[in-house]
Amino acid sequence: MLGGVRPSGQRRSWWLREALTEESARSPHLGSPSAAPPLRGTTTADVVVVGGGYTGMWAAYRMTELEPGARIVLLEADICGGGPSGRNGGFVTNWWDELPTLVTRYGDSGALAMGDAMESAVDEIGAWCKRHGVDAWFLKAGSLGVSAAPAQDTAWDSGVAAARRLGVGDRYAAQTGEQVGLRIGSPVFRGGVFMPGAATIQPATLARGLRRVLLERGVVIHEGTRAHEIDGHRPAWLGSIGVAARTASRSRGAAGGIRPVRVRTASDAGHGEVLAGSAILALNAWAAGWPWFGRRLVTWSSYMVITEPVPDRLAEIGWVGGEGIGDGRFTLHYLRTTLDGRIALGGGGGRAGFGGRIDATFTDDLLSVQRAAAGLRRLFPVMRDVRIDDAWGGPIDISADHLPWVGTVTGRPIHFAHGYSGNGVGPSVVLGRVLAARALDQMLDPALGLPIATDPRQPRAFPPEPAKSIGARLIREAASRRESREERGEPVGRVTRELSRMSRRLGYHLGPE
Ligand SMILES: Cc1cc2nc3c(=O)[nH]c(=O)nc-3n(C[C@H](O)[C@H](O)[C@H](O)COP(=O)(O)OP(=O)(O)OC[C@H]3O[C@@H](n4cnc5c(N)ncnc54)[C@H](O)[C@@H]3O)c2cc1C
Repeated sequence: MLGGVRPSGQRRSWWLREALTEESARSPHLGSPSAAPPLRGTTTADVVVVGGGYTGMWAAYRMTELEPGARIVLLEADICGGGPSGRNGGFVTNWWDELPTLVTRYGDSGALAMGDAMESAVDEIGAWCKRHGVDAWFLKAGSLGVSAAPAQDTAWDSGVAAARRLGVGDRYAAQTGEQVGLRIGSPVFRGGVFMPGAATIQPATLARGLRRVLLERGVVIHEGTRAHEIDGHRPAWLGSIGVAARTASRSRGAAGGIRPVRVRTASDAGHGEVLAGSAILALNAWAAGWPWFGRRLVTWSSYMVITEPVPDRLAEIGWVGGEGIGDGRFTLHYLRTTLDGRIALGGGGGRAGFGGRIDATFTDDLLSVQRAAAGLRRLFPVMRDVRIDDAWGGPIDISADHLPWVGTVTGRPIHFAHGYSGNGVGPSVVLGRVLAARALDQMLDPALGLPIATDPRQPRAFPPEPAKSIGARLIREAASRRESREERGEPVGRVTRELSRMSRRLGYHLGPE
């Protein structure tokens, strides 16, 4: 089934290649899309955005709405959408599945406010694409959670109970095995839950569409430009630059105002620097390498495979409505279809990164690809002989409670959002609004009233390295082993079971109960 397909390494994901081809076709006179010029020398900005994925680009877009004249400079180490925003599964889910956690954190009304905000974000993406002529295949066909083994049968119970109690039972509704079977046929599907408000998109087309609109609106984008020092801080792997520089960065300028944020960059064109009134760090998993955030994020790889077009096979199993599917594993399998009748499947059974480095673990891991392909064969045995056309991976930024973290560095106009824990497509719209309002000091913006914005929470810190990465790796491997054995109906050894549960016992949401 996998044939000669290998993970694509630094090569673009299938989605991004498709989106770039589409971009060239729209402007044939320009040839293949060229990167925005790297930064060279010193420049100034009202706001500098570091990171050209959804978070950075939604924040920049929102700023162009809030203050059309603001000078916004966006720095991206690769090309916009080159990271997970152009590599993900394209599931635009809301947060009804997070209700129990949200209720614990924000109470009933806060949880409902967050659920509503995330549900609106799904529609907002659809409306935005329409408004800006971005054909990102937005399809609001809902998302189906399926139990694919007896051990998964209760995976949604607490969420369904919470949704019913809060009067939103129709947005997160339990499904019998028969109901699931009426939608999509698989011999291993047993029942589950349906979220009608979820959608799917072509993720890279959305990212590239955002980039185009930002350029049209005058946002200055520098691609191939890596920020290696922000406000006197460097990522862990570059080493410290000394206490003196860090102290100086907190001091005030000669005029008594807050010193500008200084971002130093490197690119093929040489070194550069941006001096800005405020900064937005939209670094996703790369944030784990920076001293402010390293202890509060674990990085994890997720890999996807995509099949050859099989519209007839999809018709045979009744999967013609475009629903997204996720199984009940903690090391989740998520699947969706494409416009030309392919299946794209992702697996959360990847590996933990080390020390905040985003390296080949996240893009070149054949074992994780094989696991994803095996997931497809198990969930849909009729697809056993279907060819896999491509495979790729990317990093996921996991916080201790599985909720993203939006905040501001103490005493400095540096705002950040990350920790999406594998669910950032919809939430990045909401957090982009929060970041934009903070960066432009628009304190009356409704986004700043959301519980996630007013919450002073710092996600729980993980142990220092190497304990963090080694622990995460052991626990996730145990979870993956346990869940695969449960699927096959095999006994799970005591050591594996206890290890897989250990993170929950220690208060981290890194494995199953
Ligand atoms: C395989 C996979 C499947 C996924 N599937 C889904 C899904 O179906 N649904 C869902 O909701 N979420 C999914 N996710 C998660 C989702 O992709 C992310 O939550 C989302 O893309 C986060 O957007 P972002 O802008 O914060 O981060 P990113 O898209 O990672 O953007 C961050 C950018 O910052 C750049 N950068 C980093 N450091 C620097 C620096 N020092 N200087 C300049 N630039 C820098 C990077 O190059 C990168 O482009 C998936 C993730 C992966 C990897």
